[in-house]
Amino acid sequence: MENRGLLIVISGPSGAGKGTICKALLKKDPSIHVSVSATTRPPRIGEVDGENYYFLTMEEFKERLENEQFLEYAKVYDNYYGTPKENVMEQLQKGKDVLLEIDTEGALKVKEKFPEGVFIFILPPKIEDLKSRIVGRGTETEEDMEKRLNSAKEEIQKIHEYHYGVINDDVDRATGDVQSILSAEKLKTERIYPQWTEKYT
Ligand code: 5GP
Repeated sequence: MENRGLLIVISGPSGAGKGTICKALLKKDPSIHVSVSATTRPPRIGEVDGENYYFLTMEEFKERLENEQFLEYAKVYDNYYGTPKENVMEQLQKGKDVLLEIDTEGALKVKEKFPEGVFIFILPPKIEDLKSRIVGRGTETEEDMEKRLNSAKEEIQKIHEYHYGVINDDVDRATGDVQSILSAEKLKTERIYPQWTEKYT
């Protein structure tokens, strides 16, 4: 039978700490393949092309879009972001778990194509925490921070589209929650029964 990996989609408002949780998750389970997105956003200080993102010009992004190279794409805070399709499909087919850290619009598009994926929403303990975390990061302009805060509130309205919600009041605990979710997902009967029925029928 086809032993496909698990497609894990993590979203959450800017400032909820989803990036930190994803990093902590990978430390605990380095076998997870993280999809590197393409974006038209300029790199922040310290960001590396091909590692954090593939930083593209608008023309390059459009060309890939026209060539149907994205699994999904979305416009987030005036910039375009997209998940390169080929690598994700290749890794899943190899049986690897693949992690996408994408916005809610993109996640819903992925859910239409991969309803069997696991969709996890990361929340801050309190909505007020978002502002202090976004400001504290110090990587955005005043205008950008305002946009991120407003869209954070909109994104939270879509939480019901996700299978799980994890509150990030403590990174270790929240990462543990995500690991528990993944362990349980892998034990779902619909994922394991084909192997067993194949062997014993
Ligand atoms: P940032 O600019 O802070 O790195 O990311 C901004 C937002 O874009 C985050 O919510 C992040 O999850 C989302 N994002 C990153 N990559 C992708 C992608 O490939 N597709 C979509 N739809 N959103 C993405």
